[in-house]
Amino acid sequence: MSHGSLIVLSGPSGVGKGTIYTRLLKIMPDLKVSVSATTRHPRTGEKDGVHYYFMSKEEFAEKREHGEFLEWAETVGNYYGTPKTPVINTLAQGKDILLEIDVKGARQIKAAYPDCVTIFVLPPSEEELEKRLRGRGTESDEQIAARLALAKSELAISGEFDHRIINDDLDKAVNEVKDIILKIKKGA
Ligand code: ADP
Ligand code: 5GP
Repeated sequence: MSHGSLIVLSGPSGVGKGTIYTRLLKIMPDLKVSVSATTRHPRTGEKDGVHYYFMSKEEFAEKREHGEFLEWAETVGNYYGTPKTPVINTLAQGKDILLEIDVKGARQIKAAYPDCVTIFVLPPSEEELEKRLRGRGTESDEQIAARLALAKSELAISGEFDHRIINDDLDKAVNEVKDIILKIKKGA
């Protein structure tokens, strides 16, 4: 059986990565999504084991020391990491898996797995990115400022990615990600 494809969806916070992959899962039900570990607090409606594995900094550090993460990064004041075993097992079963991770994590994955396909999601403008972050209403003004400052440096290196898509019209962005995945399957 051939290995599945490893797909990395990255881009600045608030650009719409979560929205895109939630929509993608509805039209590509066979696609698997990695559930990350994080030390940040759950937002209203977020469930442990579904959106993230929420844990303390101590628990995260212990898992990191035991080599349980495929990649990990500290971003906007918290730790985030991709649990290794589910990704390896899913790929070995011939299934595709998508990681929604930050730019630092995407770089680590590309270095370790050069065959992975990396997609960077761009906002139509920096103003629109700020509007989306504020509109989501999940972070304080201070956290929003930190995420916007980081976004500038992340946008500057979007050229490192295999694909770049602009999330202006949501349906169009979802279809573009879908087409990229379908093309990988065809070996294009
Ligand atoms: P990320 O996962 O990249 O941090 P989210 O998926 O949480 O971003 O999206 C941030 C906000 O932007 C959400 O409120 C979402 O509803 C909104 N959003 C996502 N895509 C679009 C789009 N194409 N047009 C307008 N708003 C969008
Ligand atoms: P949020 O707190 O908004 O859910 O996520 C903040 C940032 O962390 C986003 O850019 C998101 O893509 C990234 N992120 C989520 N999970 C992981 C992960 O497992 N590893 C890395 N490196 N980044 C992650």
